[in-house]
Amino acid sequence: MLEYIKLYFQRKSVDKLIKEFNVVKVGNGYIDCIVPEKIDSFIDELTKIGVFVTDISWWCHCTLSNKKLYGCPHGMGGPQSDVYAGFFSELNYITEVHNGNKDAKRIIHEEIKKESWYSPCLVPGLWLSIDKYFLKRGRQ
Ligand SMILES: [Zn+2]
Repeated sequence: MLEYIKLYFQRKSVDKLIKEFNVVKVGNGYIDCIVPEKIDSFIDELTKIGVFVTDISWWCHCTLSNKKLYGCPHGMGGPQSDVYAGFFSELNYITEVHNGNKDAKRIIHEEIKKESWYSPCLVPGLWLSIDKYFLKRGRQ
């Protein structure tokens, strides 16, 4: 299939998944797709359509209860969502994913907890291979 046709269909499918999984999107592209829940299922759906996670940005989910529990916010300001309470505060950390979607899951569930700046309020913001930034950069 021609690359741009493939890309077109992948983006259509991801748009559907973003709605279905209540993903909080920052901007118009496919970087910083914040996934507060069902992260494993979301990544599995991406794998099925050949889309992979290239990087992960980290967002503090700043709610009243997280404020009390963890002292949020941990970063700068950020987006709100109709679905979730509070807002998402952007941290200055981005983790590169070099070995595909399985590696992304490992980072999200294990690696991140070893970081000095880790807090249970953090949720991942996925950068997807279908974003124009990735295509320009051309990293595998
Ligand atoms: Zn926080």
